[in-house]
This record gives sequence, C-alpha cells and structure tokens, in this order.
Amino acid sequence: MTKKLANLGLYGLGTMGSALALNILDNGFALHVSNRTDSVVADFVTEAGDLAARLTPHNDLDQMALDMPAPRAIILMVPAGAPVDDAIARLIPLLDKGDTIIDAGNADFNDTRRRTGTVEAAGLTFIGMGVSGGEEGARNGPSIMVGGTPQAWGAIRPMIDAIAAKFDGAPCADHLGPDGAGHFVKTVHNGIEYADMQLIAEVYGLMRHGAARAPAEIGQIFEQWDKGALKSYLVEITGIVLQAERDGKPAVDVIQDKAGQKGTGRWTVIEALKMGQSASTIEAAVAARGWSAEKETRGVGEGVLGGHRGAVSLPDGDYEQALLAARIIAYAQGFRILAAASDTYDWNLDFARIAEIWRAGCIIRSALLDDISDAFRGDLPQGQLFLAPTFADTLKAATPALRRVAGAAIAAGHPVPALTGALAFIDTMAQARGTTDLVQAQRDFFGRHGYEDIDGRTGQHGPWWD
Ligand code: NDP
Repeated sequence: MTKKLANLGLYGLGTMGSALALNILDNGFALHVSNRTDSVVADFVTEAGDLAARLTPHNDLDQMALDMPAPRAIILMVPAGAPVDDAIARLIPLLDKGDTIIDAGNADFNDTRRRTGTVEAAGLTFIGMGVSGGEEGARNGPSIMVGGTPQAWGAIRPMIDAIAAKFDGAPCADHLGPDGAGHFVKTVHNGIEYADMQLIAEVYGLMRHGAARAPAEIGQIFEQWDKGALKSYLVEITGIVLQAERDGKPAVDVIQDKAGQKGTGRWTVIEALKMGQSASTIEAAVAARGWSAEKETRGVGEGVLGGHRGAVSLPDGDYEQALLAARIIAYAQGFRILAAASDTYDWNLDFARIAEIWRAGCIIRSALLDDISDAFRGDLPQGQLFLAPTFADTLKAATPALRRVAGAAIAAGHPVPALTGALAFIDTMAQARGTTDLVQAQRDFFGRHGYEDIDGRTGQHGPWWD
C-alpha cells in the first residue's frame, strides 16, 4: 500500500540518489524522480522493477516540479556547490508556499545557512540533511542528520524514520538543530571517518612495510580486532579488503596509493580552525590524502631522499591498543568541534543523541559509540569525552602501546601523522603546564602583545627591553 505524505520528488539519480530512491519506494512511499541526464531516469525505472509501480519518472527537474501536486518535498542528491544552487534557483519560481527543498548531499554548512535564507525568503522551506552510509546505507538504511525548523522536520519525519537505519529498533535519524546543523554534524562525521581511515592505514602500513606481512594475514588480524574493542564498520571492511585478491594478487597491491577527497574532511578542519579548535587526527588525515595525491613528487623524492623504511617489530596487541587510543582521540576531537560549533551558532546540539544516531547505518559506526553516548549522558569532566572515566581508563592503559607504535614508526622512517597527532594531543592534555610560556614571552618581545602571568595578571610585559 502506498503511504501518504507530502508529494515526494528526488533529483539526482547517481549512486546515492538512486539507492535512496529505492529505499523510499521500498518503504511504501510514492516518489517522483528526475535527473540531469534523462536517459538515467529510464534506466532507473527498469532497475526499480516492481517498485516502479509507485514511481513517477520525469525528464527534467522543472517538469517534475510542475507535474507534482502540492505540497511538494523535493530531495536534491547532486554534488555539493553549484549543482545545488542551480537546482534551487530553478525550483524557487516553480514551487509554492508550503513546499520544501531538501538538500541531502554533502553540503558545506555555510552554504546551507545561506540557502536556508534564500529559500525561506521565497516563502518555501529548506532542509539541510546529512546522509551517511554510502550506497549500501542509502539503499538499506542510512544514518540521517537533519537541520531545519522543527516544523519542517515534523513534516518529513515519518519518511525519514522509515528509511533510516535502525539500532535496537530506533531510527538512526534525528533533527539536530536549525539550518546548517545537520550538514555540519555530517561534515564532522566525515572528518572522524577520514581520521579513522588514516589511522587504520598507518597501522596497516607498519605491519605491511615494517614487518613484510602479507595483506591477507593482516586482514585476518583486522577480522579478529573486529570482534573486540575495535569493532566497527571500517575495521570490518578493512579485514575484507585486505583479504581480497584481484588477478591473483592482493587487491590493495594493484591499487594506486593516491587518495581522493570531495571536501568534507577539509571543511571539518577549516571550520575547526576558525573556531580556535585543532583536531590533529583529522588534520593529519586530510594532509595525508593531499600528500598522497602528489604521486610523482613522491616518486622523485624516493630517489633523492633515500626512501628507506626500516623494520618494525611489535606485538599485534600493541597495534590494536594504539589504534584504540587514537580512535578515541579522533572521536573526542570530532565532538570538541561539534561542541565549539554548538556554542558558536547556538545550536544546543545533543551530543549523546548524535552518538546514538551514528551507531547504525553510517561509516563510523563502532562499538565505541554506545560508551560515547553514555559518557555524554553522564558527568563529563570539563565536558571532555577523553576525560570521561571509561575513556580515561582506556587511554591510560592503551597510550603506552600508542607510544611504542608511534616511536617505532618514527625511528624506522614510516610516516604516521595521525597516530602521532593523537599522541601529541594526549601528551598535551596530560600536562597542566606546557611550553607556551615561552611562546607568550616571544610574542611580547617582538610585538608587545603582553602576557598573563602565573598570578593571573594580564597585560604584563618584559623584562626584555631597556
Ligand atoms: P554521483 O556522482 O554518483 O551522482 C551525481 C548525481 O548528480 C548524478 O545524478 C548526476 O547526474 C548529478 N549531477 C552531477 N552534476 C550535476 C550538475 N551540475 N547539475 C545537476 N545534476 C548533476 O554522486 P553521489 O550519488 O555519490 O553523490 C551525491 C551527493 O551525495 C554528493 O553531495 C555526495 O557528496 C553525497 N554523498 C555521497 C556518498 C557516497 O558514498 N557516494 C555518501 C554520502 C553523501 P548525471 O547522471 O547527469 O551525471
């Protein structure tokens, strides 16, 4: 039976859009669809099979908007940036009061805030919606992070709850705040994803290049780790990927070591820095992807600088513990950025709820998220996740292993920027007095910036001038 709601439309039948459309149809909703290249629409109708009974295809976006009866809710699933602005500009004159435009792609939250203003000035409703889980998630249940007014959320909630991933029967979807809040949380989710992937790759690199172990053997170790404290989607797929073969060779060995990125990791770092935050694990991951793209320079560099990577021999348990400690820091740094944004934009983000809706459907789903939501519902020292008793205990136990892994990697010439970034954060936060006293003195020396002394007196100077 077809379920009733606002008349739903979806524009952009690429990887995510087509999977999300099938999910919506599967859950009993009728759906209008269109795509920039119209031949894709016909292919999609064929792919939909029996579900096509609830499907109304259109040749283009404008025709879809004109043909859909009001009230209309149109989901955009196109690349971030100009394609979203173009679609909005085309839709505004065609839609009526009470209609909603939903950007379900990965948008820069600054754009979402701006677009909310533009769309609402035209008397329409705008929702910025982060969708995580890749193609499989979009098809079978993604984690969904919604930004917009409570009224806008209320109107689409039955559909979103239906298509979202479920954890213990509850939808992994929620309204997180106004305008850009959903896209911001999705961006930071991706930042944590970048960090976790980089940490995993660094540990793999040490086992592979430092100990000359076969990918399949390392894959089996990841498979084991996925049964313990590191249990997570990313560790699980790493185990599968490392054991896969292509043309009789380990699949990873025939893949170019050049990473792509579409912007969410970079946006996380940019927004963090703007708010005076620094997420060392995420920064390291974004930088590592950037450096990886410089394949030719690295080829020349190997000849000029030596390219020697020495042996690293550590027990597997050290790698497991190092990864656990660093992963905790990656999450903690992500939540610190969310906390800063919540203050800056007055969003009142519910961090426990965010951890909960990341427990299924999304790429960073992991066993840690239950403990994270519990920690946020409890008493957090300084509001800091890494100081919550459960994580502080784990960090105290696991940091020595992280130190051994990072130390051995550095000594043998293996780059581990995310592992060392995590360790630097732990070591910084573990010391009440660091070395910025000297930096403050230098600033005062050359720029008369003044400093606060240890008795709390601000605006102090010298004694370095006559
Ligand atoms: P794809 O490249 O698979 O599909 C892109 C879609 O957008 C196609 O329908 C394409 O139409 C359309 N499109 C591209 N350029 C334009 C344009 N200039 N104007 C109008 N339509 C255009 O991308 P994805 O499905 O992977 O990504 C869609 C969105 O979802 C992005 O914002 C992405 O960041 C986000 N996302 C992707 C995830 C993933 O794992 N892939 C996960 C979570 C979010 P055409 O057929 O004509 O080329």
